[in-house]
Amino acid sequence: MTDFIDIIEALGAYPGIEDASAFGSYVKGRNVYKDSLLLADGILFMVNKTDPFTKELVAITDEPHLLAGLATNTSIHTGKHMMARCPMNVANAYWFMARYKNLGPKSMKDHPVSVGLGDRLGLVTPGHVASVRKTSAFPVFAQQSIRELNLTGRTFKDVLADAFWGAFRAGWREGFGADGDHLKTEEEVKYALDSGFSMITLDCSNHIGSERIGGVRAKPLSIKAGGTYKLTDGTVMAFSDNEIRNYTAIYQNAIEFTSAIYHDLLVGCGRKVDFELSIDETGTPTDPKAHYFVAKQLVDEGVPLTSLAPRFIGEFQKGIDYIGDIARFGEDFVLHQAIADTFGYKLSVHSGSDKFSIYPSVAELSKGRFHLKTAGTNWLEALRVVMSANPELFAQMYSYAKEHLDEAKAYYKVDVDKAYVPDAIGIGSFDRPNVRQMMHITYGLLLSAKTAAGEPLFRTRLYRCLRENEDLLGRTVEGHIDNHLKALGLIKS
Ligand code: ZN
Repeated sequence: MTDFIDIIEALGAYPGIEDASAFGSYVKGRNVYKDSLLLADGILFMVNKTDPFTKELVAITDEPHLLAGLATNTSIHTGKHMMARCPMNVANAYWFMARYKNLGPKSMKDHPVSVGLGDRLGLVTPGHVASVRKTSAFPVFAQQSIRELNLTGRTFKDVLADAFWGAFRAGWREGFGADGDHLKTEEEVKYALDSGFSMITLDCSNHIGSERIGGVRAKPLSIKAGGTYKLTDGTVMAFSDNEIRNYTAIYQNAIEFTSAIYHDLLVGCGRKVDFELSIDETGTPTDPKAHYFVAKQLVDEGVPLTSLAPRFIGEFQKGIDYIGDIARFGEDFVLHQAIADTFGYKLSVHSGSDKFSIYPSVAELSKGRFHLKTAGTNWLEALRVVMSANPELFAQMYSYAKEHLDEAKAYYKVDVDKAYVPDAIGIGSFDRPNVRQMMHITYGLLLSAKTAAGEPLFRTRLYRCLRENEDLLGRTVEGHIDNHLKALGLIKS
């Protein structure tokens, strides 16, 4: 308990502290994360590493009442100063985000470029911070789908708290987005909103394609057969009777569902929430006319979208580059972009990790206004670290993944076949597409695997290894995201 006494005493010498970095010299030699130092409203905060696996928040103030509500492990008073050592848990993260609104989730609306990062393990936000810092893009550090929550055994609050602490420790003070990704029901949207998320990605795939059964629309369609509709780039959209019937049958339920979610839940939730509509999880690419049909009706029903994710031409498989014709992707993208521009939202590119060959087109054709969701491959980068830091653990995880590949394929659509995946790999084979895809989709099985005695088979050792090697993990993830941001022209190389 005495190791921070000199910091506290030094506070006496800095009655008018304005810059927390003035304390840099006092934290040298301790395991304090220098970037975490924050002086706010009379409290000096810092993150201290107590052992390779544990971190704590240290708060120092001469007005102890300011710390009311913050859970503390221990506290001491010397003279007029109080120092509290606090767990970096979910409750304390929410204490922070309620008190210092600029540090937590916020809307991305005013930022032309935004990048969804996501972190299945809750360990890689500092690496994301290091990369995003080199750009003016707005980061969405917290981004998970319900599927990911179920497969990793986490809650939305866990996800947001982990992202918050990661950002806090790395000195990110500009706020970030928190995206409840691919939410499909009213309950899931409520769950994300109640957890403080700043963005809702509504996946209405369950309402698309089903022939509209019964019921009469309360309002007439805002698009008429024979009518022509001009986009801001001059393109004219015209709809035949047949097309209107067809799009109504496919999309009307989804439009009504989206409108109800917006009006019932997002309006009046007391804060600005970004609303993204995802129609990308469908069997075929989204016809631009269908995109227009959906967007126009939503706008006419008073639903302002922040972004919309169509299913673009080509294949966006997890963990590997785009599969398809890049020129055709570009032609398709331009049409969707013109619609997005007409209605004032951004296009959102999903499954956007590792799609290096199309990034230059996305950056150019969107005229620098887009949302990109890169997500799960941070898990692969974490595994890359395990492979070099603990090859034995990696080898065990690899064989388990191969053994259970077919189970994982029930959750994710990828073209990876057990027969073509090697039984064991060396470091040079990690980037083989089938290896990446296999390891990418088996994360849930690997994290939840148990021994005969019911103990975690890999989870504990995996977290231990990654915490022990957090610098390497941070650098690896930073490099991986840097590659994305460079290809997008956001980091000049
Ligand atoms: Zn998606």
